[in-house]
Amino acid sequence: MREIFSPLMSKLPSCGLYRTVASVELGRPLMTKMGSRGTPLTFEIFAECETTKARTGRMTLVHHHVDTPVFMPVGTQGTLKGLLPQQLEQLDCQIILGNTYHLGNRPGADILRKAGGLHKFMNWKRALLTDSGGFQMVSLLHFAEITEEGVKFKSPYDESECMLTPEHSIQIQNAIGADIVMQLDDVVKSTLTGPRVEEAMHRTTRWLDRCLSAHERPDEQSIFPIVQGGLDLKLRSESARQQVQREVNGYAVGGLSGGESKDDFWRMVHLSTDILPKSKPRYLMGVGFAVDLVVCSALGIDMYDCVFPTRTARFGCGLTRTGQINLKKAQYSRDLRPIDEACECSTCRTHTRAYLHQIATIETVSCHLLTVHNVAFQMRLMRDIRESIKEQRFPKFVQDYMLTAYPNKDYPTWIINALEAVNVTLL
Ligand SMILES: [Zn+2]
Repeated sequence: MREIFSPLMSKLPSCGLYRTVASVELGRPLMTKMGSRGTPLTFEIFAECETTKARTGRMTLVHHHVDTPVFMPVGTQGTLKGLLPQQLEQLDCQIILGNTYHLGNRPGADILRKAGGLHKFMNWKRALLTDSGGFQMVSLLHFAEITEEGVKFKSPYDESECMLTPEHSIQIQNAIGADIVMQLDDVVKSTLTGPRVEEAMHRTTRWLDRCLSAHERPDEQSIFPIVQGGLDLKLRSESARQQVQREVNGYAVGGLSGGESKDDFWRMVHLSTDILPKSKPRYLMGVGFAVDLVVCSALGIDMYDCVFPTRTARFGCGLTRTGQINLKKAQYSRDLRPIDEACECSTCRTHTRAYLHQIATIETVSCHLLTVHNVAFQMRLMRDIRESIKEQRFPKFVQDYMLTAYPNKDYPTWIINALEAVNVTLL
C-alpha cells in the first residue's frame, strides 16, 4: 500500500477538489472490476453505412438510453446555462456532459455524494458523462505541472498547491455518479511535437490503469480511456493499441480540436477509428461544429461534445445549416423571419430575428431563446444523420449537407479528402 495523495493534499483543505484523503493500492489487476449485475453500458448497432464507416445504434446506460451518433451539450456548474432540465428533455437531449473540475471545486464531492449524485442534485434524470478534470486544469490554470503522480497546480482560490491524481479524479467522478466517466489523461497541446508527446501517450495508459484500479462503481459507471499520441501516426496507433487491450465499455479520441490543421485532425480521427473495436462506442472529445459532426460520423465516430453551440448562443449567435448568424448585426434589426425557417424549435416558432437582435447579449431571455434554438439545431442534425444511416442514404445526406453549407462548392480541401477516404465524392 502506498499513499497516493501528495502530502501537500492533507494540508490544503481549501482545495475543494482534493479534500478527501484515501489510500489506493497500486499494482492491482489492470482490468475493470466486473460487477455482479454486469455491464453499465451495452451498445447495439442498428445499421452500418455500406459506403463510409458511419454507424447508428443505441447505448443503454443506467439512467437512460442514448441514440448514436450523439451530440452531448456541456453543462458546466451542474446546469446547462439558460435551460431547465425539463427543457433539455423536450429538446430530445438524452445525455449531457458535466465538468469534474468545476463540480469538484463547487459544490465539492462531499455534498454531491450526500445529495445522491449529480443526477439528483440538478434534477436531471437522463444520462450524464463527466470529464476527468485534467483538461480543464491544464487549459484554465497557468501553473499546472504534470508529474507521474498527477497534475500539480495552484488553487485558483488561494494559490495553495494541490494535486489531482488519476485515483482522485475517479473518486470525484464516483461521487458525481455519471453514467460514463473519463480517465485522467496527460494532456499536451495538439500542436506540440517531440518526446513530450510520447511521454504523455505512455503516461496516459499508465494513468488509465490506475483509474481502472481505483474505480469503485463499475456496476453503474463506465470508464472510457482516451487515445492520445498527438498528430504522430505511429504514436496515436500505439496509444489506440494499448487502450484496446484494456477491458472497457467504450473509447475516446482526445488531444484533437486544439488548433491543429484540419488535415491533421481528420487523419488522426480516421486512424483511431480504424484501430478501435467496432463493437464499442467511440467518443471524439471537444468537437461540435456541424460540418465536423457530419465528416467525423462518416469516419465512424459515435459521440461528441463541445461548448460551442451553447457558448455562441450567449454571444448572440444562432446556428443554421449555412453557418452561424450573429444577431447583433444591424442587418437583422428589421428582419421578421425566424433564425432558421426550417427549424421547428419553440424559439423559431415564436420569435423573429429582429426581436432577438434587440435583446441579444443584453437580456438573459436572449441567452435562453438562442440556447434553445442552438441545442435544437444540434439535436436535429444528429437525428438526420442517424436516420440517413439507418435508411442507407447517408452518403447522399453528406453530399447534400455539404452543398447546403458550401453552395458555391468551395469545399475546404480537408473535407474533400476526409470524405474521399471513406468513398464519398462531393457533388
Ligand atoms: Zn430554432
